[in-house]
Amino acid sequence: MAELPELVILARQMHEALAGRTIVVVEANRPECLNVPPEVLRQVLPGRSIVSVTRRGKWLFLNLAPASHLLLNLGMGADLWYYRPGEELPAKYQFRLELDDGAGFTCRFWWFGYIRFLKPEELAGHKETAGIGPSPFEIGPEEFAALVAGAPRATVKSFLLDQKKISGIGNAYAHDILWHAGLHPLRKLGTLTPDEIERLYLSMLHILERGIALGGVERDFYRTGGNMNDWEPFMLIGCKAGKPCPRCGTAITVIETGATKSFLCPRCQPGP
Ligand SMILES: [Zn+2]
Repeated sequence: MAELPELVILARQMHEALAGRTIVVVEANRPECLNVPPEVLRQVLPGRSIVSVTRRGKWLFLNLAPASHLLLNLGMGADLWYYRPGEELPAKYQFRLELDDGAGFTCRFWWFGYIRFLKPEELAGHKETAGIGPSPFEIGPEEFAALVAGAPRATVKSFLLDQKKISGIGNAYAHDILWHAGLHPLRKLGTLTPDEIERLYLSMLHILERGIALGGVERDFYRTGGNMNDWEPFMLIGCKAGKPCPRCGTAITVIETGATKSFLCPRCQPGP
């Protein structure tokens, strides 16, 4: 599970470790994850340098020179791990880049992931990434309210997960955002008051910033951190059915919301 906080951390660390380095070795051994055959990657990537690593939605962008982009989407999650020169590599991975300083990184998708090599002229029309909405940190309260007003019949939960509206939030952080805002996941956007919309906006920023400050729920690029084995302090109510609500003590319940489950406090988040 990699959502905005984990990807913000990964992009930052990857930029620090990789920017300015030149790609020397490429290993790509799961062709179905790629948009070009592995031999094409082995041909085009060596010799290119990594200018920057950025993020859009749940995609990581390695921006290369000569101008081109290598995009990674970790799907349900991945071990995306840096290694230093001579350091032992993980036993399993589907993708590896080695750089001119002998360091590099491996990527093992837990389930499935996507690796895309794009020329600059292909990026604008790339349908997997071109329609991604702004990051929560890129929009102000007015723009957020306008997005809410544009989809009155959508539920607040489906809105938060809609990557075309706002990008980077997944099912893990959505529970805590809605709880923090005191909103039931099935509330329709059209029923929210201006105060509730503002609360939702502020709770979204607060919970995501909190996730970044806590280091994300997974191991980072340097294989450190991550709270995967210790959800208790990390999630406020997510994945805590039966535990007391931190605000009022009522037992957290779990309901079906379309294709996803939603954890909520029935008292703090009254139903529609
Ligand atoms: Zn409560």
